[in-house]
Amino acid sequence: MRGKIAIEEHWESPEVDTPSTFGFIDPNYLAHLNQRLQEVDRRLEEMDVAGIDISVLSLTQPGVQGIQDKRAAVDFARRMNDYAAETLAMRDPKRLKTFACVPLQDPEQAAHEARRACTELGCIGVLVNGFTNTGDDSGTYLDEPQVLPFWQAISELDVPVYLHPRMPLVSQRKAYAGYPGLVGSAWGFGHETATHALRLMLSGLFDRFPKVNVMLGHLGEGLALSLPRAEHRLRHQMPGSHGTHLRTPMEYLCDNFYVTTSGTFRTQGLLHTISEIGVDRVLFAVDYPYESMSEITQWFDECAISPNDKRAIASGNARRLFGF
Ligand code: ZN
Repeated sequence: MRGKIAIEEHWESPEVDTPSTFGFIDPNYLAHLNQRLQEVDRRLEEMDVAGIDISVLSLTQPGVQGIQDKRAAVDFARRMNDYAAETLAMRDPKRLKTFACVPLQDPEQAAHEARRACTELGCIGVLVNGFTNTGDDSGTYLDEPQVLPFWQAISELDVPVYLHPRMPLVSQRKAYAGYPGLVGSAWGFGHETATHALRLMLSGLFDRFPKVNVMLGHLGEGLALSLPRAEHRLRHQMPGSHGTHLRTPMEYLCDNFYVTTSGTFRTQGLLHTISEIGVDRVLFAVDYPYESMSEITQWFDECAISPNDKRAIASGNARRLFGF
């Protein structure tokens, strides 16, 4: 299938060496990651083979979110957004689009950078790599009151925010003790991000900004399956113990979220997601270079869903959302 648009595709600054900092990952898998994160020509060649017309590039996790110093974060975000726009996307501006990174260590500056990146640099949205470090073992989640200036800017810009996984704070990894391979993308990423998304729903953020859209990878980090039970059980929790939301979590999932196919190769899961939130809220993504464009394409192109739904997920929904 030609013409696909891939939404969660990562790049890395030549200044940083993120993947090699994870001691529990197989070195054979890591060997070519940095190269693939940085090389544009190879990415374009792989897109050609996989039938991907457009890739939306984002700085790989934890990116700006992992910087503790406020000023350093503001400076880094600015430099990375400039680099992505001027060096990466310029290689083929029709096929390479970018999500901005933002320094949420200072929400006013994050709002400013989102505005600058989306209006001056051509970014089509913002990608946030989970909570933002405020210390070694402390962080800010996107539902916290001090983050409101950022959401105000997002609402005015009318662009989506991709909520991308990262590993849980060090003090919150007890459940993974003895199984370090679980703390990252195999398991911890999904739990961390699903919980973060639920916090956004319960905080009342979408009552305040009803048109804001948040994107989740990995078929919504399992929320299409787990939220109905959360919703059912929340009815029995004391008022005040689960935020100040006006609507139910599933209503927010259906009206304020898009989910992507990044890193998923499961037709049953895709069908279930479509049955819960509707096909118009599902977008194609690979999660390159952590996943292979050819592998996910082979699954997606052959998966047994209706041709109309496949076209919508592959590109139609993204074209409508981003106005490509
Ligand atoms: Zn990713």
